[in-house]
Amino acid sequence: MKKLFPVPLLGKDTPEVESLPSYIARLAYHHKVSVGDILRLAFLEIKDMAKVKKNHFGPEAIMQPNNTTMSLVNILSLMTNQPLEQSALVWMYRSLGRSSLELIKGYRWCPECFSEMNKMGIDPFIKSKWHLSGIKHCPIHKTNFIDKCESCGCKQVGYNRKYKFSLCQDCKADLSERNEPLNPSTIHCSWEENGFDLIKLYSDLVEVRFSSFPEYGAVQSLKDVFDYYWKNDEEYKFYQIFGRDESLGLIHKQQPISLLTARRMALKLGVSLYSFMNGEAAKVPFIIDPKFMCVLPEGYTASIKRRNYDHEEKLKVILCYLEGHEFPSLKKVAECTGTSSGYIRHRYPVLAHKISDEFMEHQQKLRLRKIHLAQKAALEYFFDQKYADHSKSKRQAYKEVKRETGLAKGVIEQAVKRAYDATH
Ligand SMILES: [Zn+2]
Ligand SMILES: [Zn+2]
Repeated sequence: MKKLFPVPLLGKDTPEVESLPSYIARLAYHHKVSVGDILRLAFLEIKDMAKVKKNHFGPEAIMQPNNTTMSLVNILSLMTNQPLEQSALVWMYRSLGRSSLELIKGYRWCPECFSEMNKMGIDPFIKSKWHLSGIKHCPIHKTNFIDKCESCGCKQVGYNRKYKFSLCQDCKADLSERNEPLNPSTIHCSWEENGFDLIKLYSDLVEVRFSSFPEYGAVQSLKDVFDYYWKNDEEYKFYQIFGRDESLGLIHKQQPISLLTARRMALKLGVSLYSFMNGEAAKVPFIIDPKFMCVLPEGYTASIKRRNYDHEEKLKVILCYLEGHEFPSLKKVAECTGTSSGYIRHRYPVLAHKISDEFMEHQQKLRLRKIHLAQKAALEYFFDQKYADHSKSKRQAYKEVKRETGLAKGVIEQAVKRAYDATH
């Protein structure tokens, strides 16, 4: 099999995960080839000759949960040596089937998100959730998406990838800048409907690392709720809520449940989209009788004072701190910038991941360096002329290595044991 550079999928394990078309576009950019070349290579590997000859795939075609996307995800995962399931909507495929989806055509981006990615030193990318038409504006910045270059009108869906995502592929205009500066009237209110169920779905999916839903999970949910009403001789209530013909058609799998239908039904049942697609709707206590509500004792209703952050200022402080410090832990960054690790993880999940990964990698390097140092000293003790007249016991070796390196007990003991075993 042909291998590709292991360009990392960005935002992995976070609700801000990168979309598959964005990933393929970045792969093309980093390999200095076209998106078509990458797709042809992948389809050749899976021996899908009809697709090899196809002229153009729009981003929406590569996001759709279907067999083609599934095999594309699988083969690219092997070719780039990393799991890519989180990037396309393949995780909902088994639950909803080949349903029509609420996907936008082409790309959409939030210039403020692009600008932050640039500031954080992260290769700008398109987030998976930006492809869902149910999400109307950027959930983080509450600003409108943009779907074509404001200077030349290019929609960024061409196969040639000459520049990073935050630059127009046609005229190189900066897509992280708006022509019209933001003003209060162009920023949406936090209570405005913005696909809150889809946003919640992404955060629920992070908990299970985007593992696939069970086969016909959504149908199972609907069937279990129907059975509940049926057993109580109240199926008419069920029909009143969901409509008789449509719901029976869906339960008997005569037609697939689309994402929009799944959203509507989960909302009517008062369960999360995740539970609905996971086949667990009937297990969620969805009927709450207000008469059961107790009067809360004093103190329970006191509101917690929220800290209002100036996000832009905070990001500046965090980035400034990162510039002056090598490989700090997320906790340290939070402590030194007057934020909390929860805040950084929530507001800048991709950056938080990067900080934690680099910290862990550095810790691992330090650990290895210590092991090497102890090993070198232990071997010298047993083999070097310098120690020829020293007693060759493990105990003496331990003392000498400890004196020379000052390292922790466990590291030295292991090193001495390995050196001692090599001599005996
Ligand atoms: Zn944004
Ligand atoms: Zn342009």
